[in-house]
Amino acid sequence: RFRIKTLSQKLHLIGDGVVLVVFSSVMENTRCFANRFSDYKGALLPGQGAETVVPAVIATVDKILKKVPLDSSDCDGGLYDGPAGVAYMLFHVSECALFSEQRDAYLKTAKQIIDVSVRYVDAEQDKNMRAAFLLGGAGIYAVAAMIYKSMGLADFVKPLTKFRNLWEVCAPISFLECGSDELFVGRAGYLCAALVLKQKLALMPSSKIKDQIKSICHAIIESGKQYARRKRKPFPLMYSYYGTEYLGAAHGLSSVLQMLLCYQDVLSASEKDLVWQSVDFLMNQEQNCNWPAELGAMIERENELVHWCHGAPGVAYLFAKAYLINKKPQYLDTCIRSGEMVWQKGLLKKGPGICHGVAGSAYVFLLLYRLTGNSKYIYRAQRFAEFLYTEEFKAGSCSVTSVYSLFEGLSGTVCFLVDLLQPDQSEFPLFSVFV
Ligand SMILES: [Zn+2]
Repeated sequence: RFRIKTLSQKLHLIGDGVVLVVFSSVMENTRCFANRFSDYKGALLPGQGAETVVPAVIATVDKILKKVPLDSSDCDGGLYDGPAGVAYMLFHVSECALFSEQRDAYLKTAKQIIDVSVRYVDAEQDKNMRAAFLLGGAGIYAVAAMIYKSMGLADFVKPLTKFRNLWEVCAPISFLECGSDELFVGRAGYLCAALVLKQKLALMPSSKIKDQIKSICHAIIESGKQYARRKRKPFPLMYSYYGTEYLGAAHGLSSVLQMLLCYQDVLSASEKDLVWQSVDFLMNQEQNCNWPAELGAMIERENELVHWCHGAPGVAYLFAKAYLINKKPQYLDTCIRSGEMVWQKGLLKKGPGICHGVAGSAYVFLLLYRLTGNSKYIYRAQRFAEFLYTEEFKAGSCSVTSVYSLFEGLSGTVCFLVDLLQPDQSEFPLFSVFV
């Protein structure tokens, strides 16, 4: 930032036009690689069909399985960056018909991994950690149920029941001191896991389960109302996590609202009203195709976050869901603008992952493809996949601490590559808007 300031000060002497040019070249170099790809001209990339991508996926899975602890009791990180995330990835690959030869072996390994994680979380003393979705037990139980069901094991009911019993933990309004409503450890996460289960297990929820979901939704709305009132916000629902009023998908308002939209059939008319008002409020927080990480912050162009976790690539899913529900064009337009931002600034230097890496960016294009049917977005996703294999990416991106992780490492990348082969069914891992 300092460098940019001095540059601009010097260049002001020359003229504003020059300042702008230099600014943009400096901007490109902070968090992302410059996107030098030409845009879609009517043809997809050759050489990105199953014949090349399937072997690349299999090789990456082998690499991941060499790194992931298969029998360790260290299962910290949950689905986000623990071994359980690898189990989910294996499940996801095994669901794709192109990997039917690998299916049995992948599911067997997935079960081995998730069983260790289940034992680990069964022994967890902190019930709040057991109820956490991406960082704790709820997500592990949900993925265990999916893997068991996929293997035809009647035992899937066991982890499913453990998951369902956790609703009681997260029903009290302030069950977590740090903030009870966000996606990773809070109530939005519980709803998200329940949604994934509904989708993957295809079970009809009983009226008892519907009531439980309803009580979680009520708690989220009540909590948001209380917070907004206490902090004198000019809009109806707001939340904080560790004292920060996040807006993005990871810990912020957008994924909380997304989950409430997913369950809007259990909301009262006045609750729905509050949710839609909040959706529109968040839509109006856009600053030139992106959203600041926290409420009220001004985006600095040279340093902005364009991540699934913070920024347009994650917020886009909320507006996709809103569009799918009521078809208002402004929601789709918002998604499309997010996609333009990602095309410009989504070749991230923070690795290949889905949380703040290149695959997370590329998933926005797959989302836009599903919303619009426009092949341009498949092309863009293909370009981002191609970039993952370039020397520029390998040399210029930060090393990832957990190579096998689902959100920061290669497991999420594998999910993306598989989805690129089946774009009509693609969905950001564990975060579907098409349920
Ligand atoms: Zn992130």
